[in-house]
Amino acid sequence: MQDLIVRLLSELGEDPSREGLRDTPKRVEKSLKFLTSGYAADIDEVINNALFSVDYSEMVIVKDIDFYSLCEHHLLPFFGKCHIAYIPQQKVIGLSKIPRLVDVFARRLQVQERLTHQVAEVIQDRIAPLGVAVVMEGTHLCMSMRGVEKQNSFAVTSAMLGAFRENARTRMEFLELIKRRSQVPGYLELAPPGLSCVTE
Ligand SMILES: [Zn+2]
Repeated sequence: MQDLIVRLLSELGEDPSREGLRDTPKRVEKSLKFLTSGYAADIDEVINNALFSVDYSEMVIVKDIDFYSLCEHHLLPFFGKCHIAYIPQQKVIGLSKIPRLVDVFARRLQVQERLTHQVAEVIQDRIAPLGVAVVMEGTHLCMSMRGVEKQNSFAVTSAMLGAFRENARTRMEFLELIKRRSQVPGYLELAPPGLSCVTE
């Protein structure tokens, strides 16, 4: 990978041998490997020993989980907050494991819509709750840095499964709870598919 980065620097018109860039290929390789480490992550290892049996079915909400990902169209970062809720049926996941599940899917080349669905589906798959809801609010540098004018650089995506899809009251309860502390106005206007990144 380092050879490719050296070539990339040359193609950009840089001198890869100048002092400031000498170790850049090594750093970029290390950083890219970390930012895409989700491909090699083992979900079972991540949630290892953190599934618990319960006899309640009250909504569990984890708000304001930071996420950082890379847009697959431009290899530029998008990042923001993720809010997750589920209604347990027999099992819950240890709360500290939920942000790590988000990391598994965020540390890949992504589009925000798919990332949102993958997080919802893995929870559905592992603990079979009555429903799962995931909302992600992301800022996309491929839009804000490149000065794409026709779109806001802020995108909101959601995935609603089970009770959150079928029951409007359950869905509204979740959306109200996450709205309460969000600093971002108007985020209930969920973005239509494809809005989170402009493929130009
Ligand atoms: Zn992009």
